[in-house]
Parts: sequence; C-alpha cells; structure tokens
Amino acid sequence: GRKFFVGGNFKMNGSIKMIKEIIEQINNAKLDDNTEVIVAPPALYLLKVQETLSAPAQVSAQNCFTETSGAYTGEISPSQLKDADVHWVILGHSERRALFGEADKVVADKVRAAIKAGLGVIACVGEKLEERENGTTEEVVQRQLEAIAKEIDEDKWKDVVIAYEPVWAIGTGKVATVEQAQETHAGIRKWLAKTISDKVAQETRIIYGGSVNGKNCRELAKSEDIDGFLVGGASLKPEFIDICKSGS
Ligand code: 13P
Repeated sequence: GRKFFVGGNFKMNGSIKMIKEIIEQINNAKLDDNTEVIVAPPALYLLKVQETLSAPAQVSAQNCFTETSGAYTGEISPSQLKDADVHWVILGHSERRALFGEADKVVADKVRAAIKAGLGVIACVGEKLEERENGTTEEVVQRQLEAIAKEIDEDKWKDVVIAYEPVWAIGTGKVATVEQAQETHAGIRKWLAKTISDKVAQETRIIYGGSVNGKNCRELAKSEDIDGFLVGGASLKPEFIDICKSGS
C-alpha cells in the first residue's frame, strides 16, 4: 500500500510567533506513524522548524534552485537544504509557475537537481480554470508530468510525490469534487503505468491540493487514488491536525 501523505504549505504566511505555535500543535498531536506529514514554512523559518518539529513530521522547503552553489542571488540549492537536514522540497507549485514564470522544463530541471541531491520532491501539477472548461485537463497534466519524466530515471520516481492541484481550486474555497479529483488521479496513475512502469504507477503517491479543509478531507481521502493532501490555508489552522489524521 501507499503510505498516506499530508503536506502543509504555509506559502508566504506566518511569523516567528505564529509558526512556533503551529509547530507546537503539530508536536502535541500524536500523529499516526502510518501517515507521512511534512510542513513547508517560508525559507527564513526552515532551520528553526527543522530544529523544533518532532517526528514523524518532517520539514520541507517550498522551492529550490537547480544549481549547487554560485552567483544566484536569492536562491537556495538542493544540497544546502540537504546540509540543513531539510529532506523535502515542493517544486512546480502553480504560484511558482504563474507568478514567477517557471516553465515545465524549469520545474523538471529542479526536480532532477533536487533528487540528485537526495531530497524528496513534492511535484505539483494542475490545470487552470479555462483548461478544465475547454476539456484539456488531462493533456495539461500529462504535459507537465512528461517534462519531469524526461529528466529522471525510472528508479527515481520513488523520491517523488505528485501533487495534483487544480489552479481553480487553490485558495478559492472551491474544492474539486471527489469525482473530479479521483478521475484526474486515476488518469495520472494510468499515465504512469503507460509511460514509466506498473510498479511506479502502483507505488507513487498522488495527493490532492486545493481548498482542502477539516470538513472535506475525509470524503476525499476515501477515494482509491487519492493518497493524501497538499494543504495551503488550512495548514495554518488547528484543523490541519484533522487533515493529517484523515488517512486512517
Ligand atoms: P489552499 O489549501 O489554500 O487552497 O492551497 C492549496 C495549495 O496551493 C497547497 O499547495
């Protein structure tokens, strides 16, 4: 079976005080060992969270660069994350794609570099509203995955969690229906089977993101191909704990 996986993406939210409180809540939550939980604070707070967060929860970065070191002002390298005991990174989030111009190839290069450095990657894909409306969801998601598949070997998929995040559901309160999410997740798994291998299709976690909250998570979690969540807004609230526990 695939281990349930829940990520909290704080995005550019929080303060020293607020993040300390959230981490205390997570530490006190008695999380189940059969769910993998990661929290991704802004880069500024990564080390502090790394030092204070208790197992089984782990810390994640929200982004990183492709290069190991050098004159890249403002960037953080995968090996620096590794050096700081930060073992996960979110890559290709739709906000990075839309607001910071990250094309499919850039995202794929980052995925390759992060895996090479020994990190686990939460690779985000998802269609915009107009793409869903004109029926190209599957095509868009496959194009995004195809770019990544070109950059990594088959045995590296074990280091990847795929986050399906329909852009129209992010931060809008408009969660995808269970049917919509399940259909796309099943399509991704089919694509993995066809393009990579049956083994990779069976073993890769495909998690859903977009307006997940304490109320809608359990219904979504029951779906066969939904292996967890990537949570934005609700990861800053106590209900994040309920979401972390929705896989069991
Ligand atoms: P919301 O949960 O706030 O919709 O954000 C989802 C997301 O983008 C997680 O990466």
